[in-house]
Amino acid sequence: MSSPILPLLNNLDLVQDPNQVAKLSKDYYYFSPVLKAKLEDKVADLVVRPTTEAEILQVAKACVVTKTPLTVRGAGTGNYGQCIPLAGGLIMDLSNLNQVKWVKPGQACVEAGARLAAIDKVTRQQGWEIRMAPSTYRTATIGGFIGGGSGGIGSITYGQLADRGNLSAVRVVTMEDEPRILELRGDEVQKVNHAYGTNGIITELEIPLGPAYPWAEAIVTFDDFMEASRFGYTLGEADGIIKKLISIHAWPIPSYFGALQASLPEGKTAVLVMIAESSLESFGELIKEFGGTVTYQKTAEEAKKGAALAEFTWNHTTLHARNVDPSLTYLQTLFPYDTDLKLVEHLYQHFGDEVLMHLEFFRVHGQVCPAALQLVRYTTEDRLNEIIRYHETQGAFIANPHTYILEDGGRKEINQTQVNFKAQVDPYGLLNPGKMRGWLERSATPFLR
Ligand code: FAD
Repeated sequence: MSSPILPLLNNLDLVQDPNQVAKLSKDYYYFSPVLKAKLEDKVADLVVRPTTEAEILQVAKACVVTKTPLTVRGAGTGNYGQCIPLAGGLIMDLSNLNQVKWVKPGQACVEAGARLAAIDKVTRQQGWEIRMAPSTYRTATIGGFIGGGSGGIGSITYGQLADRGNLSAVRVVTMEDEPRILELRGDEVQKVNHAYGTNGIITELEIPLGPAYPWAEAIVTFDDFMEASRFGYTLGEADGIIKKLISIHAWPIPSYFGALQASLPEGKTAVLVMIAESSLESFGELIKEFGGTVTYQKTAEEAKKGAALAEFTWNHTTLHARNVDPSLTYLQTLFPYDTDLKLVEHLYQHFGDEVLMHLEFFRVHGQVCPAALQLVRYTTEDRLNEIIRYHETQGAFIANPHTYILEDGGRKEINQTQVNFKAQVDPYGLLNPGKMRGWLERSATPFLR
C-alpha cells in the first residue's frame, strides 16, 4: 500500500498482506443475512498493532494529520459489523495491549486488549472474577466488550454493562489535532460505553469484580417449554441460590448442540445453568418442585475439561445452530417484566417453528426478566422485518442485530452526550465513520471516501 500515513507508522507492527487485512476487517456480521449483503465487501487498507499507549497516541496523530479513518478492533467477535470499516483506512488491533495492571478486592485495572478469560485467570488468584461476560469470553477483549457488547453470563446477578456501577473508569485517547489522554470516571464513562469506538480509543479500564465462586454446570430438561421457562424465572428470583447463567432452549434447538447430545433427550426443552457449588442442594429442591430431570452435572473442577456449557448459550446458541443450518439467523428481544411470562408464551406459540425460542434470564433494574436470542428460519428481509414489527406491537423490545448503526440496534434514540463527546474528541469524524447516526445527522460531510 502506498499511502501518506505509512511513513508516519513505519516503526510500528503493521499488517499489509491483503488477505490478513481482509480477515482483520471482519467480525461475525454474517450471522445476519442483511448485514452480510451490506458489509462483505468492506475492507481496511492497513492494520496496525500498537503495544503501548504512546504508540496509540502516535497512530491517532498520524490519522489526524492524514485524515485517515480509524477503526479500533479488539478480538473482532462483534455481531453487528461494529468493527468493520465502512470507509477503509486503518484498523487498530489492540490485542497486544493486554496487561492486568492491578487487582484489589472487587476491582481491577486492565488494558483494553486483555482477553476476558485472561483477566479472570489473574483476578481469580485473589478470589475475584469479571462480573459478566459474553459467551465469547475466551477470545473477546475487555475494550471490545465495553465498546460493542451488552452483557451475558453473570447478568442474572449484575444486570448489564450499561448499568451504573458495572464500569468504574476508562482512559481514552482522543483524535484531536494534538491527541490527548482523558480519564473518565463514574457516570462520565457512559460517554464511551457501548459507542462502537466512534468517540474515543479506550486504552485502560477500571472494572468492578464479583466473588469467584466454584461454578457447577448442569442441564435440566423438561417436557414443556413454558414449565422450563417458569423454572428459569423462579431460579432467577431465588435470591438464596447463587447462579451465573439461566439459559432455556426450546426443542429443536438442543439438537444443534453436537457435543452435548448424550444429555439432550429428543423433544425436550433444555435449561443450561451455572450454579455456585454451595447452592447445589437448594437448586436440587427447586428442580424437584418443578419436575425437571437433571441430565448433566459437572463440578467446577470437572467443568474445566471438555465443552464449557456457557459456550452453548447467549449468542453461541446461534453459532451452533448455524453450523448445522446456515440459513438460520436470530433476533435479540427483551420481554417486559411479567411474572406470568404471558408474552413469552404468546410469541412462542404464535411463530411456532419459524422462530425458535431461546431465553436468557437477566436482571433489569433489579427485576428478573427474560431476554431472548430466538433463532429465525430466514426467508426474506421483508419477512424478518414483519417478525420484528409483530414483536414490537405486542410489547417486546427488539435490539435489532440486523443493523450496524449504533442507535438503530438496542438504543433506538440518539445519545446526545455521546455525540457531543465525539464532537469534542474526534472533530474530523475519523473514528469508525458511518456507525453513529447522531454524528451522521449533525455532520455536513459525514462520510470519508
Ligand atoms: P470487537 O468485535 O473487536 O469490537 C466491538 C466494538 O468495540 C467495535 O465497534 C470496536 O470498534 C469497539 N472497540 C473495540 N476495542 C475498543 C477500544 N479499545 N476502544 C474503543 N472501542 C473499541 N456480546 C454480548 O454482549 N454478550 C454475549 O453473550 C455475546 N455472545 C456472543 C457469542 C458469539 C458466538 C458471538 C460471535 C458474539 C457474541 N457477542 C456477545 C458479541 C461479542 O462477542 C462481544 O460483545 C465481545 O465482548 C466483543 O469483544 P471483541 O474484543 O471481540 O470486540
